[in-house]
Amino acid sequence: MARQRGSVCRLCRREGLKLFLKGFRCYTEKCAIEKRNFAPGQHGKRRVKVQGYGVQLREKQKVKRFYGLLENQFRLAFQEANRRKGVTGELLLVNLERRLDNLIYRMGFGSSRAQARQLIAHGHVLVDGRKVDIPSYLVRPGQAVALKPKMSKNAEVQAAVQVARGRGYPAWLSVDPDNLRGTLSALPRREEITMPIQEQLIVELYSK
Ligand code: SF4
Repeated sequence: MARQRGSVCRLCRREGLKLFLKGFRCYTEKCAIEKRNFAPGQHGKRRVKVQGYGVQLREKQKVKRFYGLLENQFRLAFQEANRRKGVTGELLLVNLERRLDNLIYRMGFGSSRAQARQLIAHGHVLVDGRKVDIPSYLVRPGQAVALKPKMSKNAEVQAAVQVARGRGYPAWLSVDPDNLRGTLSALPRREEITMPIQEQLIVELYSK
């Protein structure tokens, strides 16, 4: 399974906002954005005005990193959205939210999308009662997602569940944290995806 290597906090600092890539640490004062909210590197404190292509590129990088995708995976996700009828940018975001790894994170069974991907790859996740070990699997409305019952004894999963209870759940999910299961009740509407994203910039970038 391809994955991001190196410090993920550098990615947040590059984008200038919290991308919540590191689980529990993201909610503490140890978060690098809380301590050093400037770009990484020797010249990170310099103010550089980004325009045109640079703005579009930063927006794409931000979304790609937020959902934990590599370049090729993100391009494929864009192409899939572009093939369908509708507003491409919105379709892209909705599809990213429907990914199984994202849903496991949103339901609070993993402390980060990276941990959610690990749970899936290790075969601990069921969709409609059948094992699915593909993090990019697109869940359909009405499908039930669950962790295998033995995961209720896993300390990391239980810690993630506690944090998620405090954080709350998106309205488009129905979650039963006690039984480590949930359902995608409906596709999220654009206004329900609250991360500050200008998806039109990504469409413009890939349309060049
Ligand atoms: Fe980003 Fe989390 Fe690191 Fe903070 S702790 S910089 S939110 S990955």
